[in-house]
Amino acid sequence: MIDTAVHQGRRHKLIRELAAKGIDNSAVLSAMIKVPRHWFFPKDFEQYAYRDAAFPIGHEQTISQPFTVAYQSQLIDIQKGERVLEIGTGSGYQAAVLLEMGVELYTIEYIKPLLQKAAVLLKPYKDRVRLIHGDGSNGVLKYAPYDAIIVTAGAPTIQNELLKQLKIGGKLVIPVGNSRETQKMHRLTRMSENKFHREVLGQFKFVPLVGEGGW
Ligand code: SAM
Repeated sequence: MIDTAVHQGRRHKLIRELAAKGIDNSAVLSAMIKVPRHWFFPKDFEQYAYRDAAFPIGHEQTISQPFTVAYQSQLIDIQKGERVLEIGTGSGYQAAVLLEMGVELYTIEYIKPLLQKAAVLLKPYKDRVRLIHGDGSNGVLKYAPYDAIIVTAGAPTIQNELLKQLKIGGKLVIPVGNSRETQKMHRLTRMSENKFHREVLGQFKFVPLVGEGGW
């Protein structure tokens, strides 16, 4: 796979656009400069990789818009070495950005061919990433607790199971909506065993979270 000066130039331009749209976490921006987004695109469509837009990746799923990836990565507020669960691996792009930020990542995907493709792209990070096939709508108890959980598909509700898998001080970032079409980003911070601080943020448009705790 190649990453030419032209790709890199387009990527720097995209990152400047994200900064202009309010992304100010330098760890997020420098990770996104490092990850060649065009590698995570379907073959023959890489010319669309450096637009700030979502794009179909097959199986009726999408690679998230770069702004959304940056926004969610910023909201989870993680440090190098912390343990993160991503629900909805998709193309693997968001995972690569988190891995470039230095986290230990657990990522779960429902659609096996997508996970298999992402696994190839995430090989360079193999010591710090575990890819899991299955329904992540209720989290992944086996590797809990997490410093952060990031859900990259639109959920109908916030499952208690997810909240229980956070460390004290940990954050859940999840798009929630009462229709399958649009959601409001939510951030829940675990303040103590039973106390959570909830923030309701901007509007987004994700593909639906399916499975037991999904649609
Ligand atoms: N993070 C991805 C990326 O960077 O390409 C974008 C993911 S896409 C917007 C949402 C993904 O969530 C899809 O690949 C979909 O199959 C997956 N998904 C939906 N419900 C799921 C569930 N219950 N468990 C695991 N994955 C799920």
